[in-house]
Amino acid sequence: MKIIRSATGMAVLSQRFLREGVRIGLVPTMGALHDGHRALIREARLRCDALVVSIFVNPTQFGPQEDLAKYPRPIAHDHAMCRKEGVDVCFEPTANAMYPNGFQTVVTLPTVARRWEGEIRPHHFSGVATVVTKLFGIVRPQVALFGQKDFQQSVLVRQLVKDLNLGVEMVVCPTVRETDGLAMSSRNVYLSQEEQVRAITLYKSLRAGAEVIRRGVTDGKAVQSAMAHVLKKEPAITIDYLALCDPSTLEPLCDVTSRVVLLGAVRIGSVRLIDNLLVTLPRRSSK
Ligand code: AMP
Repeated sequence: MKIIRSATGMAVLSQRFLREGVRIGLVPTMGALHDGHRALIREARLRCDALVVSIFVNPTQFGPQEDLAKYPRPIAHDHAMCRKEGVDVCFEPTANAMYPNGFQTVVTLPTVARRWEGEIRPHHFSGVATVVTKLFGIVRPQVALFGQKDFQQSVLVRQLVKDLNLGVEMVVCPTVRETDGLAMSSRNVYLSQEEQVRAITLYKSLRAGAEVIRRGVTDGKAVQSAMAHVLKKEPAITIDYLALCDPSTLEPLCDVTSRVVLLGAVRIGSVRLIDNLLVTLPRRSSK
């Protein structure tokens, strides 16, 4: 496995791959790899010839009060996982390689980035959109894999690829969870054992929302209060938002349609967690 730290070095290798007709796959990550990342890497391995995993804790997607400095960086562990999973290249640029002096261009998506995470973390999505555009420009993948865990991010990247004609096939893989249902996240290491147990309540609340929808409730407010009811039983948790949305526009829905996404974000102490569930109802036969 090659480890490349310079953007030029990566670009040169990618150009060689492309000349040779090699299909490039990219899994963009911030490292501290867990089984959620592993699932993306395994899926990518099946879809490309040269598999690139980028590991870059992107400073521009962190707010000033956020956890950039303490974000976990277990690089030896990450390399070991990448090697084991047959990754060809780990692309680990420095912040300076990605944002050299004089860097100015920023990509923004006004609509899909406006609500939910975008409202609470105002610069987050322009940081994400910019770094993804740069990674695509350097690595030149034909296929890129993202996790459903960051649902709004996946909608935003899909829009970005379409709007800017980036020509990258987007694959979104299901959320990988601990056996108790907690969505895996590099930030889970911040949770104490007790907080980890409490954190599962977010998933339980989304499940409760999905359950009332499946029982035939169509009123958005009723679904939302079913979700909130579960979370309010856990006083250590503060709700940032709980929402019922259209999965392609992320606009909130007043009524349940055949496909909805339930989005949730909470805080436990200083740790923020996000999760989501897609609910697809079987078509009712019209008589
Ligand atoms: P991150 O390193 O947190 O920026 O995540 C890198 C990629 O892994 C993103 O596309 C995430 O959505 C995806 N990812 C993170 N956690 C999970 C998970 N539990 N299951 C599936 N994909 C995930």
